[in-house]
Amino acid sequence: MLQQADVIVIGAGIVGAACAVSLQQAGMRTLLIDAAQPGCGVTAAGMGHLVALDESEQELDLCLYSLNLWRDWVVQHPDIGQVTQSGTLWVAENEAQLQQAQQRAERLNARNWHAEMISTQQLHQLEPALRQGLAGAVRVSGDSIVYAPVIAHHMAQELKQLGGQLLCGYQVISLNQASGSSVNLELDNGQRLSAQHVVVAAGLGTSSLLPDIPVFPRKGHLAITDRYPRRLQHQIVSMDYGQHNMTADGLSVAANIQPRATGQWLIGSSRQDGQTDTQVSTIALGTVLQSAIRLLPCLATMHVIRAWAGMRPASPDGQPILGAHPYRSGVWLAAGHEGLGVTTALATAELLKDQMLGLPTAIDATPYAPSRLLP
Ligand SMILES: Cc1cc2nc3c(=O)[nH]c(=O)nc-3n(C[C@H](O)[C@H](O)[C@H](O)COP(=O)(O)OP(=O)(O)OC[C@H]3O[C@@H](n4cnc5c(N)ncnc54)[C@H](O)[C@@H]3O)c2cc1C
Repeated sequence: MLQQADVIVIGAGIVGAACAVSLQQAGMRTLLIDAAQPGCGVTAAGMGHLVALDESEQELDLCLYSLNLWRDWVVQHPDIGQVTQSGTLWVAENEAQLQQAQQRAERLNARNWHAEMISTQQLHQLEPALRQGLAGAVRVSGDSIVYAPVIAHHMAQELKQLGGQLLCGYQVISLNQASGSSVNLELDNGQRLSAQHVVVAAGLGTSSLLPDIPVFPRKGHLAITDRYPRRLQHQIVSMDYGQHNMTADGLSVAANIQPRATGQWLIGSSRQDGQTDTQVSTIALGTVLQSAIRLLPCLATMHVIRAWAGMRPASPDGQPILGAHPYRSGVWLAAGHEGLGVTTALATAELLKDQMLGLPTAIDATPYAPSRLLP
């Protein structure tokens, strides 16, 4: 029997689970609902790289806020989520990329997120598996790696320990304003629930519940090797990484190789819009593997044991959709985090909770406000 909640969070991915814990800790009676299980949406399909990305000021603001929260989280939750303090090595293949690497180092250092330029010689001492002839790199030492599905699962359990409620296996099929100040939900078993606040953190399911909110799929391919004794010390990412290099068929690929705590090498990644299923495409996967082998030739002799694709929940302007729905009183959004939902989950949760409680936010939340996307 469910108890009356002050707030219902729809979706127990890394974003919804983090929001639910934060709201419950703030004293709101919270119910977290998921159609399946915590952490088994796109949260289970990604790389779990906690990374300071700086393609825009707003993106960097949210990443840095969240990365600092993750530092505390890791201390408070030892042994949860296979955390590796690997740092990121952004590898430049030519002089133009080396200049971009230098600019990234300056931007991050200006924000107290340590980044240092690495020469070609240093690069091969740090990571002997990298091919010869690279131009250099920037090393960002504060970035790290987590196993996100386990953390989402842990957060859902933590919610229950804090006195909140978790309901799994029921899909929310509709969301309506009730008379007065509450929001009504209907589940796929016909059950109706209501609460003063409802947070839609349903990832790609967001637009089915709220058709005016434009969250769309951006497909990404990953492959994982067998376990090997040879380890990378860093997550290695090409300076090519970003969303601006899409080909005519919408495929963009940049090498991104992650050392897993298990001894496996996780190889990514691609971005592709306009895709409707998570079937593995041989063309996309082949391009991902080729780009990784170009940086790390030893990968050509290693065994891939599994490959898969996941759908990043993207927004039209690349920023997450976070805050109050402008026209639906009591409805809140935490969606559209694209390729940074793990990195930015904790900042999302704090910004959402502070706005709901009418508290000042630690960073300016207006760049992520849902109202920017609605006429
Ligand atoms: C290839 C790839 C690589 C990535 N690498 C990284 C990375 O290195 N670092 C990083 O930060 N991010 C990365 N990401 C992105 C990251 O995985 C996502 O941004 C993040 O997981 C989104 O979390 P979410 O909670 O919003 O969505 P989800 O994990 O999809 O959670 C949504 C949940 O809502 C539930 N749901 C949906 N609709 C309903 C409904 N109607 N009723 C009830 N429940 C519902 C679903 O069952 C699901 O559990 C990557 C993604 C991909 C695909």
